[in-house]
Amino acid sequence: MIPFNVPPYCGREDGYVLEAIHAHKISGDGAFTKKCHAWLEERTGTAKALLTTSCTHALDMAALLCRLEPGDEVILPSYTFSSTANAFVLAGAVPVFVDIRPDTMNIDETLIEDAVTDRTRVICPVHYAGVGCEMDAILDVARRHGLKVVEDAAQGVLASYKGQPLGTIGDYGCFSFHESKNYSMGEGGALLMREFDPRAEVIREKGTNRSRFLRGQVDKYTWEDLGSSYLPSELNAAYLYGQLEMADEINAARLHCWDLYREGLAPLQREGFIDWQTVPEGCVHNGHMFYVKAKDIQERTALIAFLRERGVQSVFHYVPLHSAAAGRRFGRFHGEDKYTTSESERLLRLPMHYGLTDDEVEQVVQAVTAFYKA
Ligand SMILES: *Cc1c(COP(=O)(O)O)cnc(C)c1O
Repeated sequence: MIPFNVPPYCGREDGYVLEAIHAHKISGDGAFTKKCHAWLEERTGTAKALLTTSCTHALDMAALLCRLEPGDEVILPSYTFSSTANAFVLAGAVPVFVDIRPDTMNIDETLIEDAVTDRTRVICPVHYAGVGCEMDAILDVARRHGLKVVEDAAQGVLASYKGQPLGTIGDYGCFSFHESKNYSMGEGGALLMREFDPRAEVIREKGTNRSRFLRGQVDKYTWEDLGSSYLPSELNAAYLYGQLEMADEINAARLHCWDLYREGLAPLQREGFIDWQTVPEGCVHNGHMFYVKAKDIQERTALIAFLRERGVQSVFHYVPLHSAAAGRRFGRFHGEDKYTTSESERLLRLPMHYGLTDDEVEQVVQAVTAFYKA
């Protein structure tokens, strides 16, 4: 079976984890966490990066930093992971979902302004598959209405929009280092800040000023604000650092597989059997995902079964949030669901991971082709 995902491993991670163990420093914010912070800040140019226990928690922190009040509204796509909405619901806000664009599966930037009310505080675009949302248009709406922008860049590490790294364009950016993402620490993530708000360190350290205490800036640490435990162990940071050092190799390998898929499946796309993702002008993606779109949900179900018989694991995801029980309870959809449900039902993700070989991509291409040409 060609697995859909294999967690990335480059070879240095175990050595670094042992180093952390032998240094007797396995809680958070040790040498490896600092190296990861420096790497993230240098590679993205963000003012401040903080490793977190997940992208979910980075989103939670961003929502707290936005100082939301009960009843405030946040505009986001419905085609996303539950965490994007949960962060704002936990902070007391109401998720207001708007439709996506069928070409990128990203929020349709032209529909955002119509969803703005006097309670709107935040826009949260999700860069699906590491392909940037139309950030110029989104920032323009945000500026004119005084809104914050939180980027869910869980899938967007090392991708960019008009030369700017995803996650650094809005007020806050959230990365994921889950084992299903391009770079991993098992479970983990990072919060990026365009301007450093010292409150972020307090929120991350259980609401205390421990970060300042450890730097010798205060002589005792106390409870200062809301917060929780959002800093990851050094063991996880050590694993991640082994990956970040190899980030360019990982990125190039993923893009290579992506290009092979594209080449191999081009005939099916040209003949109208499948659709695939568009990478708009100005967007540089990171090979996070390769997906195709079948005609409809019935065809997709048949394709999944056909691929499984030929040893290929393929997956879909994201039942649109507004149609899920919690989405109906906590949020609302603004405007028409023209594409969110129908396009999500067509989408199928093919195997994509670091270490996927050319032969395996070729096998997948042949299996998909056999399905349509049989
Ligand atoms: C993976 C993912 C998350 C959650 O990331 P975790 O690190 O697992 O918490 C959130 N949003 C999107 C779009 C994701 O793909």
